[in-house]
Amino acid sequence: MIGLALAWRLAQRGLAVTVLERDEPGGGTSRVGAGMLAPVSEAVFTEQPLLRLGLASARAYPGFVAELEEVTGRDTGYRKSGTLLAARDADEAEWLARELEMRSSLGLGVARLRASEARRLEPALAPALRLALEIPDDHAVDPRKLTRALGDALLRAGGELRCHAKVQALSVEHDHVAGVRLETGEVVGAGHVVVAAGPWSARIGGIPEPDRVPVHPVKGQIMRLHDPSGPGLLTRILRMRTGYVVPRGDGRYVLGATMEERGFDESVTAGAVYELLRDAGELLPGLAELVIDELAVGFRPGTPDNAPAIGPASIPGLSWATGHYRHGILLAPVTAELLGAQLAGEEPAFGELDAAAFAPTRFIPTGSTPITARA
Ligand SMILES: Cc1cc2nc3c(=O)[nH]c(=O)nc-3n(C[C@H](O)[C@H](O)[C@H](O)COP(=O)(O)OP(=O)(O)OC[C@H]3O[C@@H](n4cnc5c(N)ncnc54)[C@H](O)[C@@H]3O)c2cc1C
Repeated sequence: MIGLALAWRLAQRGLAVTVLERDEPGGGTSRVGAGMLAPVSEAVFTEQPLLRLGLASARAYPGFVAELEEVTGRDTGYRKSGTLLAARDADEAEWLARELEMRSSLGLGVARLRASEARRLEPALAPALRLALEIPDDHAVDPRKLTRALGDALLRAGGELRCHAKVQALSVEHDHVAGVRLETGEVVGAGHVVVAAGPWSARIGGIPEPDRVPVHPVKGQIMRLHDPSGPGLLTRILRMRTGYVVPRGDGRYVLGATMEERGFDESVTAGAVYELLRDAGELLPGLAELVIDELAVGFRPGTPDNAPAIGPASIPGLSWATGHYRHGILLAPVTAELLGAQLAGEEPAFGELDAAAFAPTRFIPTGSTPITARA
């Protein structure tokens, strides 16, 4: 998602750009992501630069998908659904009241709903519901449709997309990145390289050590289902303390997701499937009638401070667009615009954002020598 979105924006600016993808485009983490555009639902008080980045990207989304749909003629699955946060018992209701207070103190759009009001909006919600918050501006997109549209838009804008081209290492000449070497031994020259390999970003070889962004995988198990009787069970995104159900609007639903520190372990476990269905089923009993289409595992590209790395490394010729953790689908437009403008030498896009909070160089340990200081 991130690499394609950035490459599209660069090709539109007339830069010669090639995406090197080891597999098929959109086949990585972005294929698994649920597609919530949820800066308000996922707001964390101590992560306000990230919140502002997410809000900026959510505001950019309607224009981003409208432009993509216009140039490609493809649907992106963007739906202005809004979101409900729901509590099942007294403990969760207390948690939700605290979440409401925090969002209100930050001026975010959120309303408290009694259980009866929430059930009027979503009649399939169970009587067990205690309290709900309505977040009217958190919507969703279908990441699989979106990456297909992005790949198409990139080609139409004159960009190149090479599939089954696995990058093994950066090629560095005189302390300057000069391109990459593929697994086949082929060297692809480039004036600038952007690492956008999601959770695998830190595995690219040849990155000078102080510059390596410490991206690590956070495993998520998730399932896709459909309702044989068609759409209507749920219209808004439903979030609970332990997970979420995202309606696609056509009778398909995404139920997620676990958060596990297990490296790149690809196993789907019975316990995860059981817990996801149990927790969501308590609030949405109709879930039991749905047909399971897919059980999937993905790896969120996590960083030590949960914020992405967007911008130049210390070594000339290298930038990062990675570490988007739980928000890569949401943050694709803002990332592409921020780094696209920077690489094209334009005025910074979204000048109101705290770019330093996302600078990849923030991970360079104090005391080590950045490459530019040595050159
Ligand atoms: C279960 C789950 C649910 C999620 N839900 C949401 C959500 O609702 N909303 C949201 O905003 N985010 C969500 N996320 C997070 C989001 O999916 C990620 O942040 C986002 O997909 C990251 O995009 P990316 O382009 O950086 O990485 P990826 O989509 O993983 O893309 C990286 C690409 O690099 C390729 N690659 C890797 N190594 C190499 C190499 N050496 N050479 C060439 N190519 C290489 C891969 O094949 C892949 O295609 C979720 C994630 C998970 C796991």
